[in-house]
Amino acid sequence: MVTLRLFYLLQKKGHMVTVSQFEKIECVGHIQKRMGNRLRKLKASFGKNKLSDKKTIGGKGRLTDVAIKKLTTYYGNAIRANAYVNEMRQAVWAHTASTDYEPKHWFCPKGSNSWCKYNVSVHNNKVKEFKHKNTFPEAVSQAIKPVFKELSNLKLLRKCLGDCKMRFSEPQTCQFVELLREHECLWNNSLDLYKNKKMRDRAIAAISTDMAIPGFGDREVRRKLKSLKSTYHLEVGKIQKSIKSGMSTENLYVPNMKWFSVMDEYLKNVSEKRHNR
Ligand SMILES: [Zn+2]
Repeated sequence: MVTLRLFYLLQKKGHMVTVSQFEKIECVGHIQKRMGNRLRKLKASFGKNKLSDKKTIGGKGRLTDVAIKKLTTYYGNAIRANAYVNEMRQAVWAHTASTDYEPKHWFCPKGSNSWCKYNVSVHNNKVKEFKHKNTFPEAVSQAIKPVFKELSNLKLLRKCLGDCKMRFSEPQTCQFVELLREHECLWNNSLDLYKNKKMRDRAIAAISTDMAIPGFGDREVRRKLKSLKSTYHLEVGKIQKSIKSGMSTENLYVPNMKWFSVMDEYLKNVSEKRHNR
């Protein structure tokens, strides 16, 4: 698996990491986090209330913080390991719902390197000795099932894959940022036009037309705008932090995206708090 940090490391060393591989990873990371948040929320909402087996949702062998972490990792793995939405969806729950009597590891990756210990034992011909350790009591399984159901719905997974495809190449991002420069109402908060919804809508539509990418409509432009602005501010924050830390000039943080300097030309003079919308 390639993490973001590893990606940059590999890139530095001249290794090729295919873009699609990387894009999928970043996107999955995002919905994987959502799984963790939902499970923690669910646990908090049950609190000390008793489940159908008269015990609380947490506690030993139940939905502990460690178990939430494991489920979250598992969820991400199940999505990463499968190329098709239908397989993803089934993989999300199948492995977790497996028991010694009813193993359901069809969608888990096979071989000695698999994250699925069951399939590793199949690979090593030791499946008879395998015991499912992390099986939840039925009451806990039932309690967390809605979260899994919600986060494995086809629409969500498809959207995740769709968003991956909607990611831009660097030249495309630069083009977008250049177009944005022409529409001040979308970023210059010192203008009255900045508050003019009609004007903004028109600007958004114009960018979508000028980009001329199938499927890249007004909604996508808005989403892109929001994410670029927030990335821009994150990067600015990193620069400011490195300046504050008193590093020598050559060690100062420099964003490595080409579009950043283009955007910075026109955004740096606009006050920070207000145009982040
Ligand atoms: Zn499995």
